[in-house]
Amino acid sequence: MTRKILVPWAMPERGREVFKKSKVEVRYFHGPKGEPPTFEELIEAVRQADVLLPRGTQPVPKEVIESNPNLLGIANFGVGYNNIDVATATQLGIPVTNTPGVLTETTADLGWALLMATARKVPQAHHYTLSGEWKETGGKSFMGQDIGPGGSNRPKILGIIGFGRIGQAVMRRSRGFKMKVIAYDPLMKKEIEKKRGVEYRELHDLLKESDFVTLHCPLTKETHHLIGERELALMKPTAILINTSRGPVVDEKALVSILKEGRIAGAGLDVYEHEPELTPGLSELENVVLLPHIGSATQDTREQMAVVAAKNAVAMLKGKRPYTIVNPEVLESTVYLQKLEF
Ligand code: NAD
Repeated sequence: MTRKILVPWAMPERGREVFKKSKVEVRYFHGPKGEPPTFEELIEAVRQADVLLPRGTQPVPKEVIESNPNLLGIANFGVGYNNIDVATATQLGIPVTNTPGVLTETTADLGWALLMATARKVPQAHHYTLSGEWKETGGKSFMGQDIGPGGSNRPKILGIIGFGRIGQAVMRRSRGFKMKVIAYDPLMKKEIEKKRGVEYRELHDLLKESDFVTLHCPLTKETHHLIGERELALMKPTAILINTSRGPVVDEKALVSILKEGRIAGAGLDVYEHEPELTPGLSELENVVLLPHIGSATQDTREQMAVVAAKNAVAMLKGKRPYTIVNPEVLESTVYLQKLEF
């Protein structure tokens, strides 16, 4: 029987070309507008597949994985893989892969755009210009925060939480703005201390000191609600929070309260705690800029992510070592090796 890759969403063309060249069998399973299958449909389809290639926002919980313990791999389209129950996959000898690196610069660009847009209220001013109010009232000033040193020539402080690929790419963008950079990342403390132009801070110190706090850690048990009411309360009233990591890293209810009370100046969000739902009150606030999870959304980068995910899927289908595996211990496990014997 031929082995099959299941792609339950409208994957970009360059990824499809990888499949064609590799001459593997693929089932694309989605509605005419790219609508994903229902949970029950996904489970049924996974039962008949050998490798699953989900979109990074598509949940792949325990029930889906357990529906087919014979899976040879899950190739996630995205660098974050919190959508997948990796522990269950590992237990069942299923390798899981992601798409690191190819989206780093694109996501850092979006993070930077969001920081600038939030600081200078760009979307709010755009809507105001279009509304016609400008002509009628003679102008609203849209006072913002400086990103560069500003009139008083004081360098602004950028606090980076999660100093990995994207966090460091954001740091590089801050150089032209003469910012002072501080960072918190418990797993990278030594590297940060050795790096020129960045100083290590513990989380609470970073929050107290920063003019801008930008989040770039993965969503894990440890980072869930890393930024809660207590942490938000430590921020300066003039500070801005930017989140392009994952929604649940921030307690969104606490964020809405803090923003409503004007206890921080603003927030720019690309990701949400209950995506695509927004916490009640968030959309009524004037000091937020809200984007629909578009961190990696450029044509070139999405195509490249599809290539990486497709190459990983093909490798796993053929029982070969995938390129970017997140649970490499699986490859040595008896349960995985036994699957390859068939
Ligand atoms: P990375 O692994 O290179 O960097 C993540 C960093 O976070 C690591 O250095 C890690 O040590 C650090 N970290 C882990 N636990 C931490 C903690 N408790 N506190 C602080 N830091 C911690 O990953 P990356 O490629 O830079 O991507 C980072 C995240 O960005 C991804 O996991 C993903 O969720 C998110 N992302 C979002 C979008 C988007 O569309 N908005 C796009 C790409 C990535």
